[in-house]
Amino acid sequence: MSTETFEFQVEARQLLQLMIHSIYSNKDVFLRELVSNASDALDKLRLAALRDEALDADVSDLHIELEIDKDARTLTVRDNGIGMSYDEVGQLIGTIANSGTAEFLRELKEAKDAAGAEGLIGQFGVGFYSGFMVADEVTLLTRRAGEKKGTRWSSRGEGTYTLQEVDEAPQGTSVTLHLKPADPTNQLHDYTADWKIKEIVKRYSDFITWPVKLVGEPPAEGDGPAEPETLNSMKALWARSRDEVSEDEYHELYKHISHDWRDPLETVQLQAEGTFEYQALLFVPSHAPHDLFTQNSARGLQLYVKRVFIMDDCEALLPPYLRFVKGVVDAQDLSLNVSREILQQDRHILMMQRRLTKKVLSSVKGMMADDGDRYGTFWREFGAVLKEGLVSDSDNRDALLAVASFATTRGEDESVTLEQYVERMGEGQEDIYFITGESRQSIDNSPHVEAFRERGIEVLLLTDPVDEVWVDVVGEFQGKRLQSIAKGEIDLGAKDDAESEGEREKRAEEYAGLLGWMGEQLAEDVKEVRLSSRLTVSPACIVADADAMTPALENMYRAMGQEVPRTKRILELNPDHQLVKGLNQAYGEREDRTDLTENAELLYALAVLAEGGRPTDPARFVKVVADRLGRSL
Ligand code: ADP
Repeated sequence: MSTETFEFQVEARQLLQLMIHSIYSNKDVFLRELVSNASDALDKLRLAALRDEALDADVSDLHIELEIDKDARTLTVRDNGIGMSYDEVGQLIGTIANSGTAEFLRELKEAKDAAGAEGLIGQFGVGFYSGFMVADEVTLLTRRAGEKKGTRWSSRGEGTYTLQEVDEAPQGTSVTLHLKPADPTNQLHDYTADWKIKEIVKRYSDFITWPVKLVGEPPAEGDGPAEPETLNSMKALWARSRDEVSEDEYHELYKHISHDWRDPLETVQLQAEGTFEYQALLFVPSHAPHDLFTQNSARGLQLYVKRVFIMDDCEALLPPYLRFVKGVVDAQDLSLNVSREILQQDRHILMMQRRLTKKVLSSVKGMMADDGDRYGTFWREFGAVLKEGLVSDSDNRDALLAVASFATTRGEDESVTLEQYVERMGEGQEDIYFITGESRQSIDNSPHVEAFRERGIEVLLLTDPVDEVWVDVVGEFQGKRLQSIAKGEIDLGAKDDAESEGEREKRAEEYAGLLGWMGEQLAEDVKEVRLSSRLTVSPACIVADADAMTPALENMYRAMGQEVPRTKRILELNPDHQLVKGLNQAYGEREDRTDLTENAELLYALAVLAEGGRPTDPARFVKVVADRLGRSL
């Protein structure tokens, strides 16, 4: 039958080049990847046979076989699973579907050194292609269960691959690696050695639920045929007690289900007894995936029913804000035919979800009690997602608030929980103060924070988009109000005791004229101009009404395509600032105030700039400032 030659998709080609010139030091993992694919193929076939009784497939002896041919220097990984059709081979093996891959390749180009590149490969995992780390040619023979004809695929990894339809092929897939020439100086990487293959399977694939067999060397003359030896224990790790299983074994299972090559941050186990029995083994990754905030990214756990794999990405088992958690749930009493739709409504599933959620949250709490910085890593990677739960999951709000932490004006690298914040609140402080914005730097230096810093009052610095929402929904913690320092009137009291109530009133009188006049001048932009007690060094700042949206929230809604009415905000002036004092004096002395209008506008523009906004007419602003600077020289 004719052989057709195809080109790899660009990304696939780049990835292959990487594998061939393999910068990944632990090459052994190629076998883990191939065995993992084979195991998935067996899972899929068993499931397909369950769902479709008419499927013409043999499911009587599902297993994985490894075969070494020392003379030809080949290693074959064979399964009798679901297999692939001709078209599927082209689609699945010739292209890269993983949405993160383009991102991965871009980062790879930027990573100058080998260590950086190695880290990235581990981060994405590249499955089938990892075979090219050890082989200079890979062939694959496959037949999809239920179909008559098979397909042969072959490539040297150099830009093209060939496809050929074949009449005869066993059900399933066999991948043959034509190993690179032996390196006499490095026996450790001889993948034609039985012991090496046994070691790798034991290390990386022991938990695979299908037998992984090593087909023996051809028997010596006169002996019977050698029995294939099963290399893995096939024990479902989730059904075993924690002290029977090593940390490494758990980690390998994680890598199998997550396609992440790095160790997880935390392993969480739960074995529920009683009328609805199930076992769960969950993992918190050590890094957030690139698509954590994109819709339609793969999320959810693997669902098994009585050790039988039922589905990937089962979302019903955890709430959306725990979508980064990976793992397996094995339920005893679900139907093997259960569908996603049914799961969404099942009462037992809902109970499982509740319990798993609590378990994950309590393990996060556990990390906080650790000496190391696991919690720090966790929060950096997943804090922004977890905070979504503060909005959506009122049942677990307290548990979530207990594990949430925030950047603070107390210190560059410090973070603080609400409980700690409340504990160290000063005498007379009633509220928990926070400010939201786009970056720590912009809000840390914003005028709003000035007076708080001067008075030693701690302010939480919130920079995730979701912060805008949860602070409103949650409202208070331990009876203390969550108060934005960029909203409403903030009365921090007098800076020092010397300034009496009387003096303050007197000053209000002094400025009344200027404030009213500026209010008129700036009426298009602001609804009021008033004196501030929150400023010390800046001349002015802008604050919102107590119940108004913050600019960041407005931007968020606009970004989501929603219409948001323009809200006018309040301009606050610092009466201790030379600029404000001078303006007030000039205002008092002049009859004709037209040329003071520009000063009012400048003051407003400065306040806008200070909070990271842009003046209404930037070009005009620049011109006015430049003119004035010129005149001052
Ligand atoms: P991944 O396993 O991460 O999806 P791979 O490159 O390893 O990426 O494999 C791509 C796809 O090819 C798999 O998702 C699967 O659909 C298919 N595939 C790979 N190996 C096998 C196999 N042994 N049997 C059936 N399908 C396979």
